[in-house]
Amino acid sequence: MPPIPGSGLAKGLAVTLRTMTKKTVTAQYPDVQPDLPPRSRGVIALFEENCTVCMLCARECPDWCIYIDSHKETVPAAVQGGRERSRNVLDRFAIDFSLCMYCGICIEVCPFDALFWSPEFEYAETDILELTHERDKLRDWMWTVPEPPALDPAAEEPKEIAAARKTADKLRTQREQEAAEREAAAQAADAQNAAGQNAAGQEAADREGTQEGQE
Ligand code: SF4
Ligand code: SF4
Repeated sequence: MPPIPGSGLAKGLAVTLRTMTKKTVTAQYPDVQPDLPPRSRGVIALFEENCTVCMLCARECPDWCIYIDSHKETVPAAVQGGRERSRNVLDRFAIDFSLCMYCGICIEVCPFDALFWSPEFEYAETDILELTHERDKLRDWMWTVPEPPALDPAAEEPKEIAAARKTADKLRTQREQEAAEREAAAQAADAQNAAGQNAAGQEAADREGTQEGQE
């Protein structure tokens, strides 16, 4: 059946009229900042103090866009007669965000909590090479990482915190005992000094009394 002349126009006008009354969803960025969820995947931040250069993130990254360089350093023994240890020192940590597909695998696999999602997304560049963020820049993103959500008050205390608390309590008790022992020793020394002074005073008085008697 041939189409009725003008039906296309009527359909188009119907769509226009229908959408005219709906609320607009166009984001007016950059004049209006988008209201993103706090856990948005904007950019990856590095907390380099936690990084042990285990290379897990670089190995698991499907895009091979994490570049890590390091060297080994010998750490002298902590106690006399102990063994020297060697540790990895981070020289370079970079992520090429022109290759990254924001899968989050690197953050998931990091066993030392050194990588975090930041919701920051305004880092567009005119030169693609500038999208390789080096360690300092990745470290700076840490300031934009939101705080972790509060723990459930009814949740069981994590094992690490329980162990840390136990050690802290033990140290505190040990310090309190040492302080109490020091105080008791100081009091005993004071009492001994006072007794010595009393005895000396008494002896001097006796001597004086004897001399007066002889005169
Ligand atoms: S988010 Fe995915 S692609 Fe991007 S660096 Fe991490 S592992 Fe690689
Ligand atoms: S997985 Fe974590 S600790 Fe290991 S190299 Fe990557 S960022 Fe560092």
